[in-house]
Amino acid sequence: TGTTTAPAAELPACPPPPLAVLGDEVRAPLTGGGEVPYAALDLAASAPAARAVWEAVAAYLPQYGSVHRGAGHLSRLSTELFERDRRDVAAFLGCRPDDQVVFTRSTTDSLNLLAAALPADCTVLVFETEHHAALLPWEHHGRRVVTLPAPSSPADAVALAAAALRKLPAGRPALLCVTGASNVTGELWPVAALAEVAREHGARTVLDAAQLVPHRAVDVAELGVDWVAFSGHKVYAPFGAGVLAGRADWLDAAEPYLAGGGASLRVDGGAAGGLLPVWQRGPARHEAGSPNVVGVHALASACRALSAVGYAAVTAHEQALLRRLREGLASVPAVRELSLFGPDAERVAVVSFVVEGHDSAGFARRLSDEYGIGVRAGLFCAHPLLRSLLAEGSAAVPGPDAGGCDDAPVQAVRVSFGAGTPAEHVDRLVSAVRRLTDGG
Ligand code: PLP
Repeated sequence: TGTTTAPAAELPACPPPPLAVLGDEVRAPLTGGGEVPYAALDLAASAPAARAVWEAVAAYLPQYGSVHRGAGHLSRLSTELFERDRRDVAAFLGCRPDDQVVFTRSTTDSLNLLAAALPADCTVLVFETEHHAALLPWEHHGRRVVTLPAPSSPADAVALAAAALRKLPAGRPALLCVTGASNVTGELWPVAALAEVAREHGARTVLDAAQLVPHRAVDVAELGVDWVAFSGHKVYAPFGAGVLAGRADWLDAAEPYLAGGGASLRVDGGAAGGLLPVWQRGPARHEAGSPNVVGVHALASACRALSAVGYAAVTAHEQALLRRLREGLASVPAVRELSLFGPDAERVAVVSFVVEGHDSAGFARRLSDEYGIGVRAGLFCAHPLLRSLLAEGSAAVPGPDAGGCDDAPVQAVRVSFGAGTPAEHVDRLVSAVRRLTDGG
């Protein structure tokens, strides 16, 4: 223990990652003494900021102002930038001309906003395998929910959705919530096919793209989805800004998500007769209060940085590392990779596994303490999915309390990376897993 491991000799060298990110200089202390360069392999939780984002934010900080409010130079400048960022995000997502981009705090916030804005009689269909952010907002906001079971393949997902859609009362609004890529297995879902089957049954679709946008281009028009949600902090911007983009009609018809300045066009009435606010239409309706202009600029700069690098380069890099990771883990007998659609399913750079004879929380802790590798252990805010995946095999063993959101006796380990990850991080992880399971 207490040492980093060299990449296995037979591994070919990899080209450098296509996206420059911060964090190279971070060093992780080891319990055995000393320190090593930190290997960030929990990017499905939050990614490091891209260098281009840092530079954009640094240039903007001395000159930001409140948007849509002030008459001064910096307010006008910030308003222009804010709206340019909105247009760039719309273009980045391939939005249709009538779509609108609402800036939120996160994917969770975006999906709650949509849940609150749905027509009162809307039924929401959602797979039980979803992240809690996509699973829970609908009922929380008083909508009727139909929960679909875990599918065994992408085609099965479409068949399950079609069967459930057929049973819905005709002529009533319905929404199918679809994930782009699983935050647990990395597997890609058949988004376009699900959107098509929803459309055939008169239903709309929202895409939870939190784990898709970091890895794959999302084109709202081409996919045929009605809305898409994602978070800045998973696409190489810091925390605090997210997006809900898509059709305007239901959003314009809904009560504002928050009541306050910016969302109100004017406020009529008064003490005697009560207040009569007249609400804005368009994104401002759901962006009450002073918006997070710096966060939005960071998010939009991250989208521009990904576009500049190009998703072809992102995918090529990540898939090369993913092959290396999965082949490496497959050569460790104690490791069982978790998968819903099977080992050959197409997936992004997210892999979860259990290690026979080891509790996952303890194993992840040792990866950090002894090798300077940051992964996550837990149920990844997808408890129904993890319950069924972990029940399939006997390799997982209970560990001590992990605490927090992932407090569960049996858990999994998740490794996730991205366009800025060097091959050394993945190679170090595979070596460390090998050593720890060899009785280390
Ligand atoms: N959806 C998926 C698939 C996710 O992986 C996550 C975060 O892990 C979310 C939604 C929620 O994102 P946020 O925490 O940024 O709201």
